[in-house]
Amino acid sequence: MSARAADSAQDAATVAADGDNLLGLPRAALEQWFAERGHKPFHARQLMQWVHQRQVLDFESMTDLAKPLRAELAANATLELPRIINRHKSTDGTFKWLMAAKNGQAIETVFIPEADRGTLCISSQVGCALDCAFCATAKQGFNSNLTTAEIVGQVWTAIAELPRRANGESAITNVVFMGMGEPLANYRSVVPALQLLLDDHAYGLSRRRVTLSTSGLVPQLDKLAQECNVALAVSLHAPDDDLRDRLVPINKIHPIEDLLDACWRYVAAFGNRHVTFEYVMLDGVNDQREHADALARLLAGKPAKVNLIPFNPFPGTEFERSPDAVIDRFRDRLRFRNVVTTVRRTRGDDIDAACGQLAGRVKDRVRRRLGDR
Ligand code: SAH
Repeated sequence: MSARAADSAQDAATVAADGDNLLGLPRAALEQWFAERGHKPFHARQLMQWVHQRQVLDFESMTDLAKPLRAELAANATLELPRIINRHKSTDGTFKWLMAAKNGQAIETVFIPEADRGTLCISSQVGCALDCAFCATAKQGFNSNLTTAEIVGQVWTAIAELPRRANGESAITNVVFMGMGEPLANYRSVVPALQLLLDDHAYGLSRRRVTLSTSGLVPQLDKLAQECNVALAVSLHAPDDDLRDRLVPINKIHPIEDLLDACWRYVAAFGNRHVTFEYVMLDGVNDQREHADALARLLAGKPAKVNLIPFNPFPGTEFERSPDAVIDRFRDRLRFRNVVTTVRRTRGDDIDAACGQLAGRVKDRVRRRLGDR
């Protein structure tokens, strides 16, 4: 499938309405929900605190709402979470859930504990249509967009399932949109989810602790820069268009120069400190010294950091991970050329929970519809 076909197939994909499932409504929409029914908008904040902070889903227990209002909510609204299908725990403490989406599909959510933080990696789509050559999710094809409730529901569920920290706070300090799917291809559901994650009456995470990772949908990135300020990660993976066209096919529509310009606009719009560029280390493909030098020419002197990701293999892939020594040399070369560079530690690979290994349960609709299968 061409990247353009993937793009338009996603545009055409329906964003399922959340209906009266209030779980996925950000503050403005929830205020409107109350106002339309003749109630004061501040009830939205009360409800959000019950749902997202105290994790109470039973309207009857929301004691600062008047009894008749509770009854009205119970009669007209729901608070529905994605159902957990199963759980896996890695020997390194990484945790993975398989959660049900619509029509028998399933998505994956991963929790990565570290000494000073706990990162939840969430999915935004059932599958993905962007067809990046080295990604397990891409191999599954694309089925559908998640609703905001299904996105936020992953966070709610993980908080409920994980033991709290010693200080009583939630185990989750950071949320990254690095699970299944391309978040900017599901813009309409993802932006309200970001708003809920940032809202002090809901999850109250700081902007630096919520990261959206994109393969580079430039128009949506510009739109995001107008609407919602979160940390940005961009899946670059190659320093030139020829190679990136092969690895990340959306590059044929939004080439590197356009993508980087959009990144600098994003940083300028919010006064953010930097964009993180993800770069998967593929043995003999993009891991040579000339690649590091070309990457440095693109990024040195810019508000950029590079995060090198050792490739995580999956069945049927043609790629192999670069040896550790090659990754270290690549990192050192970038640092020598004044690019701040880190190497992502692989976590949870024994339960197929590492970057690019998430597969869930996806019945591909796009490729068949486009007739190239
Ligand atoms: N669609 C978004 C977010 C998903 S994946 C995006 O493309 O950014 C999060 C990161 O894992 C991306 O940088 C992605 O390119 C990378 N990734 C995908 N497959 C991988 C694999 N097999 N090994 C290592 N990283 C991988």
